[in-house]
Amino acid sequence: MGARIDHLGIAVKDLARAEPLFAALLGTPAAGREVVASEGVEVSFFRVGESRIELLQATGPESPIARAIERRGEGVHHVCLAVDDIDAEVARLRGLGFQFVGDAPRPGAGGHRVAFIHPKSAGGVLVELSQAGEGGH
Ligand code: ZN
Repeated sequence: MGARIDHLGIAVKDLARAEPLFAALLGTPAAGREVVASEGVEVSFFRVGESRIELLQATGPESPIARAIERRGEGVHHVCLAVDDIDAEVARLRGLGFQFVGDAPRPGAGGHRVAFIHPKSAGGVLVELSQAGEGGH
């Protein structure tokens, strides 16, 4: 069973500016916004074929997105892989030596359960795993 890209996460300073830019680029309007308080972000999703693009704006200076933009500027922040059973996948990857960031799994946007693999153990890429809730996404 291969991986499927659920979405690409892009860190932006200002959703109000980034949303119309990506709507023009992708030829489709934003599909909806959501604040994920536990992660310190407000997100906006765009459908792109079978996948999505997630714009992330920090909700405060302590947000991981604020820190990422401070260090590296705006741009691609993480790759999210859809998984059917996140508990099993976290256990499998931990068994292979992958390091996770914070609690894994935990609640994410859209009622999904998510986990983040540390970039140090994934080739410099922050990888999010996401399991859809009962109603899908
Ligand atoms: Zn994400």
